[in-house]
Amino acid sequence: MAAQDRRVFLVLLGVPGAGKGTQAKLLEELLQIPQISTGDLFRYNLKNETELGLLAKSYMDRGDLVPDEVTIRMVEERLTREDCARGAIFDGFPRNLVQATALDAITEPLGGIALVPLIGLEDDDAMRRITGRRVCRSCGAVYHIDFNPPKQEGVCDVDGGELYQRDDDKPDTVRNRLYVYYKQTAPLVGYYYAKGLLAEVDGGLPIDEVQANLKAALQAKGLI
Ligand code: ADP
Ligand code: ADP
Repeated sequence: MAAQDRRVFLVLLGVPGAGKGTQAKLLEELLQIPQISTGDLFRYNLKNETELGLLAKSYMDRGDLVPDEVTIRMVEERLTREDCARGAIFDGFPRNLVQATALDAITEPLGGIALVPLIGLEDDDAMRRITGRRVCRSCGAVYHIDFNPPKQEGVCDVDGGELYQRDDDKPDTVRNRLYVYYKQTAPLVGYYYAKGLLAEVDGGLPIDEVQANLKAALQAKGLI
């Protein structure tokens, strides 16, 4: 493989609310590669009422996984965009072993997955984080009413957009999302550990400390 074909792929693992999206946005700047959030891609399609969005809606409303075939195809398409020429940070993908093996097949010819940071967080903390999460309707920036509040309540610091609570961030759906995580996504921790790719960081720390620990994990792997 020619050096210019080699890309850097990271997979962020962690329960819903662990801080994957928050940290992915910070890592984008550091590594100059884009975040690929399957949740954000589905929400974008939902907002624009595309066929994919309509299909995903019922699964997302329940907190269940959207079928693998659709999800994997969406990721493959996203990866053909020019901004992925040097790699990508996956946030919320893969979510089960079918998706993980598909991602291996996609990334192996391009140098493989470089590192899988696992952002660890207790379930009670995850519940608190998700139910207090607010998202900008226009740019997708993520806030928390207590832990990471915007300067002005209800208004995005970045672009002045309206902040809203995701429908699936209400307590009943959140419980199902945690259940789905343990049933389907948690086995990926062992999967990536066995491949020697896992780097666990404590997601219970403040945002900047989690970021510093992620940076240290990237440095230890020679990625920055
Ligand atoms: P969180 O990080 O809070 O769990 P996401 O934004 O990643 O939430 O996902 C929201 C919803 O989008 C999920 O509950 C699921 O319905 C759908 N979704 C996101 N990513 C995937 C995926 N990789 N496979 C299947 N469904 C997904
Ligand atoms: P995920 O993508 O894993 O579902 P998010 O990045 O959306 O998680 O974070 C979930 C919520 O927790 C958001 O409201 C975010 O502002 C907040 N949050 C993220 N990281 C931290 C942290 N280290 N400490 C406190 N709150 C955090």
